[in-house]
Amino acid sequence: MRLGELRMELRKVREVVQGGQRVYQYDLVITEVIDETDLAKTYFFKNVSNMPIFDYHPGQDVKLYFDTPLKRGDFRFYSIAGSPTRTSDGTFELLIKSEGGTFAPYFHQLTKPGEIVTIEGPYGRFLRKAFQMIEDERLNTLVFLAASSGIVPFKCFVDYAVDKKLKVDVYIFYVNRTRRDFIYRKTIPKLLDSYPRLQLVINFTREHDISSQEIIDELFLGSDRGGRVDVVLGRHVLFEDIKEIVADWSSAYYGICGGAKFIAGDREKGIDGMVQKLEKGGVSRSMIEIDSFGTG
Ligand SMILES: Cc1cc2nc3c(=O)[nH]c(=O)nc-3n(C[C@H](O)[C@H](O)[C@H](O)COP(=O)(O)OP(=O)(O)OC[C@H]3O[C@@H](n4cnc5c(N)ncnc54)[C@H](O)[C@@H]3O)c2cc1C
Repeated sequence: MRLGELRMELRKVREVVQGGQRVYQYDLVITEVIDETDLAKTYFFKNVSNMPIFDYHPGQDVKLYFDTPLKRGDFRFYSIAGSPTRTSDGTFELLIKSEGGTFAPYFHQLTKPGEIVTIEGPYGRFLRKAFQMIEDERLNTLVFLAASSGIVPFKCFVDYAVDKKLKVDVYIFYVNRTRRDFIYRKTIPKLLDSYPRLQLVINFTREHDISSQEIIDELFLGSDRGGRVDVVLGRHVLFEDIKEIVADWSSAYYGICGGAKFIAGDREKGIDGMVQKLEKGGVSRSMIEIDSFGTG
């Protein structure tokens, strides 16, 4: 056995080539499961060899394999939730929302701490351009638009920004239908506290009978962190909201993550998604990156 192969064997890594891309498979043990909402859970894993897994940057994804009762070796893609700065002991984190489909509901029901699953990655280029611009000191402001589990890569980014002491302003517009759908209820206030350059706009499209202050009271213990939390209720975020809140909107870089309709709208119904809203507002397409989670 060659030295490289021996090292891979010790680290329990398998190298595979997918579509010309070199990716790695690891067996991970589930160490903890946290209920985020009725439908979404955070899974913490640890590499069975206790070694760090592959290098990745926030915004990248993995394939998670699992034998469901319907299909052996089934898989879905998941955005990596844990910052690469926090994986030195082989710790790994995903957020899995069950959408009434044929994978996530079984994963939720049938797995528990102690079980071993396989992940493969890293996949994807989401936010790579933003990182390049930050590295080249060509970017001061990032605007992240997230729907539901689309918050995952941005949570990962902010953890990374804290650890790497990045000097960029980050605005997150986080869209959900109701308060019950609000993923990272405990984590998001901590992100605000640990990254003072983070500004948050919470958008609940189907909350009508509650005030913004009541939302702040419930989700942020009454503190809007010195004006860093805004609330938009009973409607969808408009470009005017972004323009009003992000002073530097015209030179900002935009990352959008969520279902296809949130990103690209519904052409048949004449409904704009976030991409069209930004473009019509005057944002250059070259400053917009998307990560689409599927049809919803
Ligand atoms: C790059 C990428 C990154 C992603 N990252 C994340 C992430 O970080 N977290 C996350 O939770 N998800 C993420 N997803 C989505 C994820 O891959 C799954 O699609 C999601 O977990 C839903 O899986 P599922 O088994 O519930 O639905 P699937 O079986 O994958 O079906 C997809 C959709 O079809 C619909 N559908 C399917 N079957 C039925 C049915 N019987 N009845 C009604 N509707 C149905 C549902 O709306 C469902 O959302 C990501 C996807 C991509 C492509």
